[in-house]
Amino acid sequence: MPHLDPQQRALAINKLLSLGQLDLLRNSSGLLYRMKDGQGASKMKGSDNQEKLVYQVIEAQETKKPLRESCVWIWSRDIRFKSNLPLTEVNKILKNLESKKLIKAVKSVAASKKKVYMLYNIQPDRSVTGGAWYSDQDFESEFVEVLNQQCFKFLQSKVDLSMDDIETILNTLIYDGKVELTVIAAKEGTVGSVDGQMKLYRGVNAVLLPTGMVRTPCGLCPVFDDCQEGGEISPSNCIYMTEWLDF
Ligand code: SF4
Repeated sequence: MPHLDPQQRALAINKLLSLGQLDLLRNSSGLLYRMKDGQGASKMKGSDNQEKLVYQVIEAQETKKPLRESCVWIWSRDIRFKSNLPLTEVNKILKNLESKKLIKAVKSVAASKKKVYMLYNIQPDRSVTGGAWYSDQDFESEFVEVLNQQCFKFLQSKVDLSMDDIETILNTLIYDGKVELTVIAAKEGTVGSVDGQMKLYRGVNAVLLPTGMVRTPCGLCPVFDDCQEGGEISPSNCIYMTEWLDF
């Protein structure tokens, strides 16, 4: 809220704090404010005190997040210790909270796939999931092997790949319906941005196999309706078609 004068801003923050709608956190660079999750509070309606206690123990982990990203999860053993409830009771409550989608259990690669618990909307970090080389907490040896071979081949070939070369390959995946492209505005100087724009790619799972037409550039063309022979956009000067036919 840069347009507010500091005094007004302080008044507004104090009011929200007194209404219990903000959390006040601290990290090395100063104070941080975070909107409280009203959804969690309303979903806890009807829960007994023990269930609320267990939820609060898990929620309390998240308030440590600005200090240490990996703090957002907790072992069931620590939940039991902090809530002072018997194991069977804790397990029952955790199952209830999971079914209400207030928390989730994730198997940790760090400890023989033991479960850790976190709020439902939290993304587990690398210390739990193992990062890119793990899928469902299992080491993806085949994927690593393929990357290993491809990296070695690339280094042996001494080919100097440019951004355009990489985009050509990515475009073939787009034409095959395996990848989706989104162009977003980017700040000047952002790594990977060109002329204030950045291209983002993500793999997609096709529900149906694309038909032949959809596999051609015209089938996915964003300017299909404006394309006509003799026009500014036309098949004879089409860059998508040239790249596709060249490949
Ligand atoms: S020829 Fe090129 S510009 Fe025209 S519809 Fe096909 S892909 Fe699009």
